[in-house]
Amino acid sequence: MTGSQAAALKAEPDSALDFDAIIIGAGVSGLYQLYKLRELGLRARVFEAGTNVGGTWYWNRYPGARFDSESWTYGYSFSQELLEEWDWEEHFAGQPETERYLNYVADKFDLRRDIQFKSRVAAARYNEETRSWDVALEDGRTYNARFLVTAIGVLSAATMPRIPGVETFRGQSCHTHYWPKEPVSFEGKRVAVIGTGATGVQTITEVAKTPGHLTVFQRTPQWCAPLHNAKIGKEEMNRIRGNYPEIFERCQNTYGCFIHATDPRATHEVSPEEREAFWEKLYGEPGFGIWMGNFRDILVDRKANALISDFLARKIRQRVRDPAVAEKLIPKNHGFGTRRVPLESGYFEVYNQPNVKLVDIKETPIERITPTGVKTSDAEYEFDIIIYATGFDAITGAFDRIDIRGVDGESLKEKWKDGPQTFLGILVDGFPNMLMVMGPHAGLGNFPRAAEYSADWVTGLIGFAHDRGVTRIEATGEGASAWTDHVLATSEGLLFTEVDSWMTGINRNVEGKQVRRIMRYSGGHPAFREHCEAVVTNGYRELMLG
Ligand SMILES: Cc1cc2nc3c(=O)[nH]c(=O)nc-3n(C[C@H](O)[C@H](O)[C@H](O)COP(=O)(O)OP(=O)(O)OC[C@H]3O[C@@H](n4cnc5c(N)ncnc54)[C@H](O)[C@@H]3O)c2cc1C
Repeated sequence: MTGSQAAALKAEPDSALDFDAIIIGAGVSGLYQLYKLRELGLRARVFEAGTNVGGTWYWNRYPGARFDSESWTYGYSFSQELLEEWDWEEHFAGQPETERYLNYVADKFDLRRDIQFKSRVAAARYNEETRSWDVALEDGRTYNARFLVTAIGVLSAATMPRIPGVETFRGQSCHTHYWPKEPVSFEGKRVAVIGTGATGVQTITEVAKTPGHLTVFQRTPQWCAPLHNAKIGKEEMNRIRGNYPEIFERCQNTYGCFIHATDPRATHEVSPEEREAFWEKLYGEPGFGIWMGNFRDILVDRKANALISDFLARKIRQRVRDPAVAEKLIPKNHGFGTRRVPLESGYFEVYNQPNVKLVDIKETPIERITPTGVKTSDAEYEFDIIIYATGFDAITGAFDRIDIRGVDGESLKEKWKDGPQTFLGILVDGFPNMLMVMGPHAGLGNFPRAAEYSADWVTGLIGFAHDRGVTRIEATGEGASAWTDHVLATSEGLLFTEVDSWMTGINRNVEGKQVRRIMRYSGGHPAFREHCEAVVTNGYRELMLG
């Protein structure tokens, strides 16, 4: 049925249902989605597994947790009042500040009254008769709603390593995502960190500040670059506030919604001296400029990528005193920027400390966790604390952990077992009335910028349906195939597709996640928005509305 045909129906919303919409997740995305659906006058309820709002910034309390987006590009843009009221303290806020911010947002807009905490969604099943979703919580409670909106996060399904004996360790151990709310002291302790991705890098740098002994177990070193964080004074904050319109405008126009725009030049178009000076400048500046604001070809051209990788390798050699350790810290199996670049504040210098040891577990694999520590192929280590910085089953992991069933009981996990298939990263054929905020194959990037857009689009569609009495919205199989093909095409030629990482769907600790897949749209956010806008302009004719 077309939009205009559906318009003729004018059915009333089904008051027999518990809610018009159920949103899963109370992070950046879910909070804003709730705000928007309330604006439409809909009865929306958020189910959140945690005990408070914040999502990523509620869970990840590990030492050193902070984002690598500039704070003033990361905050919401939708409320002028909020922009006037909130002062960021640091250019790159730490977890406590961001958690405070999201709590402030929840209070300011009185969002909590529609959020049910300690409510993990275990299953969601589409009911064709009522054209609604039946949602079951882990504790057995059930609810139904016309629309199911997922805001469950791309990095929210934490994974432990598949190492035998994890449960036998008698000391304190914790995954960074599930870090306790009470402070953990490292004073005089023997601490192990397993994992050296973006989270590991932040944790290691912070833990190494406290006297004790730190052992880092590294499988894959990363191309880290300096964060250059700094406090924001009152005057500077006022200047930033005055610039918000330009800041958000700029973020709208860059590839990944960051403040950093790709340099239009190619690496070989400038002389070696100019190139070196440019890279020195980027290395000395705050944030993702070295990744997002670099020459346009560093992530597609092998020679260009080798040159920038060589620049970063020289930096590591300069910063790490022991040449053997420096070599271990230089990635050999991927080029700069082809995995998520961790930004750091003194990470490499940690390895100059006498109380820090780096263990390369490709050379000496971990055989097991023992009651007292870690056994590798050539040594046994004793620890008081083991920290697992082993990341996430990214992008589709949180979906896989819910038993989501569409038409005729089709399982979403099963449908996506060879990789996600979506329409715009928002809808899935066979799963009517399910809308994903920041789903797989959507335009990712500086998260709140992309999430605001995603939630606005979802709100527009739900509003359109609501106004016209449309009770069933579904992507077509052809639409989903075409979008999936397009997503795959946008990633062609990008060097990241040749590398194992969470961005290519690899997680050695999760069964079925050993084959590379394209998990996100790589055409850049401006192009992503164009595709989404075209669907709206067309009156959603690509969708089946009924
Ligand atoms: C350590 C770390 C650093 C990051 N740094 C940056 C950065 O610098 N810049 C950037 O743009 N992004 C960064 N990110 C990405 C970050 O996840 C996003 O910025 C943003 O917070 C995601 O918001 P969200 O609401 O979409 O998802 P989340 O914040 O992940 O929230 C999802 C919520 O859904 C809940 N949930 C999931 N499944 C269920 C279920 N079955 N039932 C009930 N509730 C459920 C979770 O408990 C969680 O609270 C970082 C992520 C991590 C982990």
